[in-house]
Formats: sequence, C-alpha cells, structure tokens
Amino acid sequence: MVDTFYLHLKFTSKTGGWSLNLPFLCTKCGNCCRLEDFLSAGEINAKPREHPQVHAKMKALSEELGKMFEADEAKYDNYTMHTPCPFLADKSCSIYEIRPDGCRLFPKTAFGMQTQDCPALTRFKQMRAALKKGRICTETYYFTWKTLGSAESDETIKSTKFTEKHYQTCITKLRQAGITDDELALFNYFNVQNKSCF
Ligand code: SF4
Ligand code: SF4
Repeated sequence: MVDTFYLHLKFTSKTGGWSLNLPFLCTKCGNCCRLEDFLSAGEINAKPREHPQVHAKMKALSEELGKMFEADEAKYDNYTMHTPCPFLADKSCSIYEIRPDGCRLFPKTAFGMQTQDCPALTRFKQMRAALKKGRICTETYYFTWKTLGSAESDETIKSTKFTEKHYQTCITKLRQAGITDDELALFNYFNVQNKSCF
C-alpha cells in the first residue's frame, strides 16, 4: 500500500450519485526536505535502540542547534530555514521507513497545502479542479494509513462508484490537467479495484 493521502469525491447527478478517488503521488523530488525547519516535523518513528545511529545524529543536532539558538537566534533561524534536512540523501529520505509523522503527512497539512514548492501538489490541485469543474460534489480527504489522533483507521481505500463513461471522461480531464503515467496508474489502482456495482 502506498503511504499517501487521497481525495474521495462524491458527485450528484440526475441519474444517481457516483464517486471517485483522486490519490496524491509524491514524486520524491526532495523539495519539502529543504523547507523551513525540519525539526518541526516531529519525532522519528522508531525507538533509539532500534536505530541508535539515527537517534544519536538527531540528538547531536538538537544539542548543537540548542546552543546555536542560545548564542545567536538569528543564526539559528537562518540555519533552520536554509539547511536541508540532515537525512536527505540525493533527493531521497535516508530514514524513509521511520520518518517523522510531519513528513508522512506532507503536503496534507494546513501549511503544506499552501506550498508552491511541491510540483506533485500543484498537479494534484489542477486535477482536482478539472474533475470538479461544472459538477456538484462533496470532498473528503483520507490517508492510506492511520493518522495520529484519528479514531478511524483509513487503511482501506474508500470504494468508488462510476460508469465507464464517467471514468473515461475523467481520464480525459486528468490528461488535460497533466496527469503523469505513474499518477494515472495510481489513479486506476485507487478506483478500478475498489469499484462497487453501479
Ligand atoms: S526526515 Fe526524510 S522525509 Fe523528513 S524532511 Fe528529512 S529527508 Fe525529508
Ligand atoms: S515536495 Fe512534494 S513531490 Fe517533492 S518530495 Fe515533497 S511531497 Fe514529494
């Protein structure tokens, strides 16, 4: 299962309601790992004894930054705003499996959804607009993993309901909005296999 968020769209029409899922696909460009203050992403999702080197690195960095903050707040601000995350290695996260929840959630956060630095999010918003254009619908976001504080597990992808004609029309709109081959494959995965009878 891909770790991501997706939008469940429910459309109303004279012939009956139908629905689709629009998943977000991170293209792993690494841009968000260069954004302001990687320390605010949260705790590493592993116990120190399981990943001692990662925790040691994080502890040393926190101590260093703590001293920097005490000595020169402006220098600290400049460092955290302009220094990539220390776990970023050639555009990839070197601790991907245990990355903090803030990193897993991104860009589906209040701050993240406003960013101009995530090319996949820009495309996602264009696709969302293309699917909604001229239609009445409700929108609900879900994650494919249980989010912090969530009572409900979102691990099962929401089922969808559409006709072949709806689907082909949506694919055409998504292509016009710039969907990539990988995004299209994920879109199919999030819809076709979860389709209920119409
Ligand atoms: S922990 Fe990984 S995903 Fe999070 S900012 Fe650092 S490199 Fe990026
Ligand atoms: S900026 Fe967006 S596409 Fe790039 S790594 Fe971050 S979430 Fe993925």
